[in-house]
Amino acid sequence: MQFNDLHRQYLALKEEIDAAMAEAVDQAHFISGPQVARLEEELAAYVGVRHCVTCGNGTDALLLALLAWGVGPGDAVFVPSFTFFATAEAVSRLGATPVFVDVEEDTFNMSSASLEEAIRRVRQEGELTPRAVIPVDLFGQPADYFNIGRICQKNELPILEDGAQGMGGEILGKKACSFGTVSVTSFFPAKPLGCYGDGGALFTNDDDAAGLLRSLCVHGKGEYKYDNVRLGTNSRLDTLQAAILLPKLKALKESELMLRNRWANRYTQQLKGIVKTPAVPQCFYSSWAQYTIRLESKEQRDGLQAALKQDGIPSMVYYPKALHLQTVYQSVPCKAYDLPVSQRLPDIVLSLPMHPYLTEEEVDTVCAAVARYCHGE
Ligand SMILES: *Cc1c(COP(=O)(O)O)cnc(C)c1O
Repeated sequence: MQFNDLHRQYLALKEEIDAAMAEAVDQAHFISGPQVARLEEELAAYVGVRHCVTCGNGTDALLLALLAWGVGPGDAVFVPSFTFFATAEAVSRLGATPVFVDVEEDTFNMSSASLEEAIRRVRQEGELTPRAVIPVDLFGQPADYFNIGRICQKNELPILEDGAQGMGGEILGKKACSFGTVSVTSFFPAKPLGCYGDGGALFTNDDDAAGLLRSLCVHGKGEYKYDNVRLGTNSRLDTLQAAILLPKLKALKESELMLRNRWANRYTQQLKGIVKTPAVPQCFYSSWAQYTIRLESKEQRDGLQAALKQDGIPSMVYYPKALHLQTVYQSVPCKAYDLPVSQRLPDIVLSLPMHPYLTEEEVDTVCAAVARYCHGE
């Protein structure tokens, strides 16, 4: 059994993907080919925003958004401590200070209460200027944009939605990557919408921001590529990756989201009462980038992971360390107040095999193995 079986996905979509790749190679328009523009149009329409700007990867997308906003030294950017490192790295890369915010134990997403308290304390201390908030749609579920949005509005802070894992999620029918002033996603192969290498995208309804982002992606171009009006970078999605993403986006919409939800519901039905299963609040829809359970202790979690491994079942610890405790932040400036949940989750979480092409038998095998271990058999 695979943790995320990308080969099975390829076999399911082989005809369309092979044809798309062959066409892109035959057309030989390898950078900014017509597939890139088509993908941007389809993604903007799917997410429900005016602009999609593709780029080299999700980390670049975060960097480009912060760069477009002029975030730099002396600025505070609020990020969850329980996420993939890139969320905070982009902030630090620009010389700004990540202010770590705690998460909710049952959804793994940014706690609005912790955010409000962190903003209050940064303002009170007066050393840093609050500039932006980066909620993460962790494991495929949108963050709590009702409450985070209210707090950001009150504090006049823009939201940069880190939807790297979030594509396909929804709140009340509104799609992930539409909740930020600017939102980003990643097409890293293991994400809900992944390509066959690195890739990323930015989403916004702001025409000026979209123009600025398009310039920043191509060396700060002005009228054309050899008119350089600002410092940018080289961050583009290859034509070949865009060609691969077009049939993959179609599959995501037509079947894969539904399948991921089928397997997540099957896990929850069989595992509730045995372990702590992930919560999906009312009106929220997850794209289940990961299906993550919580155990009672580190010993129990490590024991379960070892037992699953013995049964040939792969599992992963996402994430093994809170970001404010990472080695890099012993020397790079950051702020972390009280983060009890982010500190505890790395000891007790375990992500189980999740992808659209699982089978009922596979899900049932995983659940039976978890139950055996937790019942001490
Ligand atoms: C994967 C990921 C990123 C970075 O995306 P890349 O395309 O790998 O650069 C950023 N944030 C989160 C939450 C991620 O999971």
